[in-house]
Amino acid sequence: MATLPNLPGAIMSADEEAALIDAIQKWVDKEVRPVVQKYDHDDVWPAEIVAQMTDMGLFGATIGREYGGLGLSAVTYAKIVALISSYWMAITGIFNSHLIMACAVERFGTQAQKAHWLPRFASGEIRGGLALTEPNAGTDLQAIRMTARRDGDDYIINGTKTWISNGINGGCFALLVKTDTKADPRYKGMSLFIAPKQEGLTTGKKFKKLGYNSIDSAELIFDNYRIGADHLIGEAEGQGFFQATGGLELGRINVAARGVGVAEGALRLAGEYAQQRETMGKAICEHQAIQLKIGEMVTRARAARLLTMDAAKAYDRGERCDMEAGMAKYFASEAAAENAQEAMRIFGGYSYSKEYDIERLYRDALFMCIAEGTNEMQRMIISKQWVKRNPA
Ligand SMILES: Cc1cc2nc3c(=O)[nH]c(=O)nc-3n(C[C@H](O)[C@H](O)[C@H](O)COP(=O)(O)OP(=O)(O)OC[C@H]3O[C@@H](n4cnc5c(N)ncnc54)[C@H](O)[C@@H]3O)c2cc1C
Repeated sequence: MATLPNLPGAIMSADEEAALIDAIQKWVDKEVRPVVQKYDHDDVWPAEIVAQMTDMGLFGATIGREYGGLGLSAVTYAKIVALISSYWMAITGIFNSHLIMACAVERFGTQAQKAHWLPRFASGEIRGGLALTEPNAGTDLQAIRMTARRDGDDYIINGTKTWISNGINGGCFALLVKTDTKADPRYKGMSLFIAPKQEGLTTGKKFKKLGYNSIDSAELIFDNYRIGADHLIGEAEGQGFFQATGGLELGRINVAARGVGVAEGALRLAGEYAQQRETMGKAICEHQAIQLKIGEMVTRARAARLLTMDAAKAYDRGERCDMEAGMAKYFASEAAAENAQEAMRIFGGYSYSKEYDIERLYRDALFMCIAEGTNEMQRMIISKQWVKRNPA
């Protein structure tokens, strides 16, 4: 069983961080790489990998040490996510969705909510995710229809969420609802609940996907789901939109890190192949057409990493970083998609074989252009923020 070195706290020295990353690399080499193809091709929940990630503390990676988490900085967290994603991106989604839920409680919850939920989230005793999207509302989150109606000391929740990561295997969700359907502007009527699985919540269909396999994406159906008012994050209505999107900054840094991983993974696979495969009497990496591809891939991967670290550093300094996180997420996910496609071309016909890993990176990459806010929306956020910071 992999164990991580003792961590002194959120601020780590370069040596301590290197030891942590080395331990993750050893775990990936020993436990993840031998099984990734089987799990991915069969689209099966990787129970043994999840158990190992739980033992390593990854479900508490960014949760404060006072609650039993590892208390990692966003920088260290992003490096770990990029490393794992360069071999198997989907498993980072299993703990990232969970950590976004935890982040909402840690940033916006009451002391009692933090004391109750965070130690259980950090240990992995309760795992979960973030439930925002509905059949009619993804990008336009304020159009959600799920309602929570106050009834004495409880709320009664009705509606359907869709595409929820960890929906089947998770046990608890940060759930965005409308507590006031008539509010104007609409976001003022939105609230975020901690919603554990219990009577009134059933899982609907599990989506069959192009990629991002093994982690389940499912519908959650709430039918007269009754929950105590102490499950309302912060215990004040109308804060949900801000709370849900506040957590997305860390989520976007995470998706950016996944993009870095896939961009670097595609480069690594294609680079190795290009040095071994020969045509016309020499390795294909010596043909100019392939050199142009590799030169672009190296540059894209490096730029994606630097933008992601820039956003993570701003997050760690406690600064507003929606523009930095948006740029990192946008650029790194596009870099992942472009590098994966170029790697497919470098592999030639073998790119189409399920025996090689590159086809998985190609299928997985496009998801990151959609996740945590589509790249169309990211560019609009970047533009608005830039104009705000640079008034004429
Ligand atoms: C594998 C997977 C896992 C997911 N996991 C989760 C999860 O755990 N939790 C969760 O809540 N959701 C999850 N989602 C949902 C995801 O967040 C949404 O799919 C995403 O936000 C886009 O919403 P949509 O699919 O409804 O697209 P739409 O909002 O319908 O957008 C369609 C297209 O229109 C563009 N568009 C929309 N509005 C505008 C605008 N105003 N200006 C310009 N362009 C616009 C979009 O960029 C996109 O290109 C997941 C999705 C997938 C595929």
